[in-house]
Amino acid sequence: MPKKVLIIGSGLGSLATALRLSHEGYQVEILEKHHRAGGRLNLLEKDGFTFDVGPSFFSMSYEFKELFESQGIPIPFTIRELDPLYTVNMAGRDKVFHIYKDLSRLAQEFADEKNFEEKAKRYLKSAASIFHDTEYRIIKRNFNGMVPYLASLATVPMKHLPKMFRSMWTELERNFETEDVKVIFSLVSFFLGATPFDTPSVYSLLNYTELQHDGYWNVEGGMYKIVEGILPILESRGVKFHYHTEITGYKADGDQLKGFTDANGKLWTADVYVCNADAAWFRGAILNRSKYSEVKLDKMHWTLAPFTIYLGVKGQIPGIAHHNYFLGNNFKAYADMIFKTSVAPEKPYYYVNVASKSNPGCAPEGCENLFILCPVPDLRYKPDWSDAEKLANDIIQDLGERVGYDIANNIITRTVYTPIDWKGMFNLYKGSGLGLAHGMNQIGALRPANKDEKFNNLYYVGASTHPGTGLPIVVIGSRLVTERIRHEHATV
Ligand SMILES: Cc1cc2nc3c(=O)[nH]c(=O)nc-3n(C[C@H](O)[C@H](O)[C@H](O)COP(=O)(O)OP(=O)(O)OC[C@H]3O[C@@H](n4cnc5c(N)ncnc54)[C@H](O)[C@@H]3O)c2cc1C
Repeated sequence: MPKKVLIIGSGLGSLATALRLSHEGYQVEILEKHHRAGGRLNLLEKDGFTFDVGPSFFSMSYEFKELFESQGIPIPFTIRELDPLYTVNMAGRDKVFHIYKDLSRLAQEFADEKNFEEKAKRYLKSAASIFHDTEYRIIKRNFNGMVPYLASLATVPMKHLPKMFRSMWTELERNFETEDVKVIFSLVSFFLGATPFDTPSVYSLLNYTELQHDGYWNVEGGMYKIVEGILPILESRGVKFHYHTEITGYKADGDQLKGFTDANGKLWTADVYVCNADAAWFRGAILNRSKYSEVKLDKMHWTLAPFTIYLGVKGQIPGIAHHNYFLGNNFKAYADMIFKTSVAPEKPYYYVNVASKSNPGCAPEGCENLFILCPVPDLRYKPDWSDAEKLANDIIQDLGERVGYDIANNIITRTVYTPIDWKGMFNLYKGSGLGLAHGMNQIGALRPANKDEKFNNLYYVGASTHPGTGLPIVVIGSRLVTERIRHEHATV
């Protein structure tokens, strides 16, 4: 009999793990509290418009290719490289920066930065060496505790050490003179859910991944095509899905997990269990581990929470590309306050994705669909979101003025998700959008492990376990957890 694996949650980490395990002959069943698969990589359909709920692009596209090549099947969706990667709009300035991978073209955007191309090459060479020196030593391997982790860390060349203690902003100040380059190059830190002032400069490796290594990609027809591509493959292999099923408890015998119970009291059993819910929150809330009590979780570093707006708009909005950042003119002050304030930002910084610019099927003819993401403090700092509509109105007003289109008066459909909604939909701890942050004390063996501390047959995959958050990274996580299961619970 093949071994049965029960996965809690159907985010990308789960789906990728289910692909790998079912290919290796395991019988897989998936329980999901939401009504649809995908987790944060989800879909909203409303009034003739479709919206990607969370992720809108990804780096390291080769991780998706590896996932499907490992099964001997073609990638079931079409990926497209972004060029330009994105645009950046600064408040009060007419100039819109187009961020190209081609450095000579990018140099024209940063004409005020003397010798930009030469400086960028030097900066990116150093970022590239951090990426390649840590890729297999830290990111793409399992750790069985602190000793092997420290041993692996010790093999990372010493020249990178100062970058662990220097902030990304300081590193940028050492390399570039103009505020424009520093601000724009530092935006990658927000993908880690942090600011450049508290992100270690080793993460300049993200500038290398975006500008030189593999760039950014999205999916023809919208990001949810990833999930829609994977589901039929899993179903054809007999993988069963149960939606509206929330795990609230467990049954165990010594070091063996015997089952999970759902909110209706039903017991779900298997030989091996994989948790795709937040790996830190789950250990505290469901497994009652004191190390992950609410007090302790609150002291950990969590990524910023999303405040998201989904707009269906009549007309074609000019002056806006597929991926766009809209920034204010007080970057440092803004970054210092957004994490810990209890009030909504007055002049918010936000990201806008107009998927209909390249996927016309996402909106009725003559219309656009807009996804707006504004990073905000999580529910520890701002638990009250009764001001959500005002913040949404302010952002829509600001965006309309900056692109010169009366968005507010052309809205056909409008949905707003606050951190309270994000927490409620997917059990994201206090609404944190990307899960645990990636400071030096929360990566590698210091991140909640992908193998449970107590139960021999419980594993984790997803944003808050090793190696971390983001679509390609949870796909790597699925490879790592599958390796463990294959070695420790070989099927048949
Ligand atoms: C607004 C936003 C924008 C983002 N943009 C990008 C981007 O552009 N590019 C990128 O690479 N990444 C992006 N990310 C991050 C990316 O979405 C995540 O890192 C990734 O999707 C996490 O996948 P996961 O495997 O951890 O599963 P999750 O998406 O966390 O899914 C976990 C699933 O488990 C379910 N679950 C939880 N608890 C239970 C329970 N008790 N019982 C049953 N089911 C349960 C949840 O409902 C959920 O469906 C974004 C995230 C957000 C929020």
